[in-house]
Amino acid sequence: MKIAFIGLGNMGAPMARNLIAAGHDVAGYDTAATPEGIDMAASAAAAVAGAEVVITMLPNGGILRAVAEEIVPAMGASAVLLDCSTVDVESARAVAAQAEAAGLMALDAPVSGGIGGAEAGTLTFMVGGAPEALEIAAPLLDVMGGRTVHCGQAGSGQAAKICNNMILGATMVATCEAFALADKLGLDRQAMFDVVSTSSGQSWSMNTYCPAPGIGPKSPADNDYKPGFAAELMLKDLDLARQAAEEAGAATPMGDAALAEYRAFVEGEDGRGRDFSAMLPRFQGKTRG
Ligand code: NAD
Repeated sequence: MKIAFIGLGNMGAPMARNLIAAGHDVAGYDTAATPEGIDMAASAAAAVAGAEVVITMLPNGGILRAVAEEIVPAMGASAVLLDCSTVDVESARAVAAQAEAAGLMALDAPVSGGIGGAEAGTLTFMVGGAPEALEIAAPLLDVMGGRTVHCGQAGSGQAAKICNNMILGATMVATCEAFALADKLGLDRQAMFDVVSTSSGQSWSMNTYCPAPGIGPKSPADNDYKPGFAAELMLKDLDLARQAAEEAGAATPMGDAALAEYRAFVEGEDGRGRDFSAMLPRFQGKTRG
């Protein structure tokens, strides 16, 4: 297939390389990155000319909207705009409506799996948009990922992503504060893991990505809390969840509390550049009050 790939950063570059390795014809565009092994176009509009599928992997909804202004008029009839960035639900819906008004098809398809999943081609895609568009994009999603879930109409992929990550942020904060409490109660961390990971307090944060070094499966805690999934990316996703909850009029007290913790950690303390599970050493250093 003839593909344009816009936004070739930590995630986009390995995703594009997997498409090239699978035999697809990829034209890239990025305002800053010059990734190896990818033919780059002179502009976003030049990259999308003649492409059957245009993939975007950009930092946020504002940038996605700006890029869409440039590329939608330059895309060929019946092409598919496949946005894999994590953005706010409103931007996802607005860009899909803009593409459809121009006679194009659009999908929002945010991912989970991180840079490791992008490199290995094992990402999970959460997709919102028309089934006909998904049918066209599916072979590409199969190259870049291991699993695709069609979540519903435009914006549903982003909705699924932020709901999942709101749960993840809240369970990570809860798991870390519980470990710090257990420490202060003199409870052995291994005993804590053995009980909780097989009891009703279990979660992915405890069982698969345990924030305590040396306990449970290998995780960023065993690598001095190098990301993994950086605390600032969790802050971004929790802020998107807050924004969506405000727009929808939904009460999300645990999501709001997790957002406040990650904001303090990233913006006021030493959280930037550390894994999001570094909440545990953060709580170890804190006292009640
Ligand atoms: P990144 O910052 O490494 O890459 C973004 C790229 O977009 C950069 O190379 C930047 O130069 C480029 N860019 C910015 N503005 C542009 C424009 N106007 N035109 C063309 N290119 C432009 O970010 P990333 O880690 O690759 O993340 C991309 C998206 O994937 C984000 O929405 C992020 O939330 C999401 N995501 C990231 C991870 C992760 O682990 N890194 C996991 C899941 C989802």
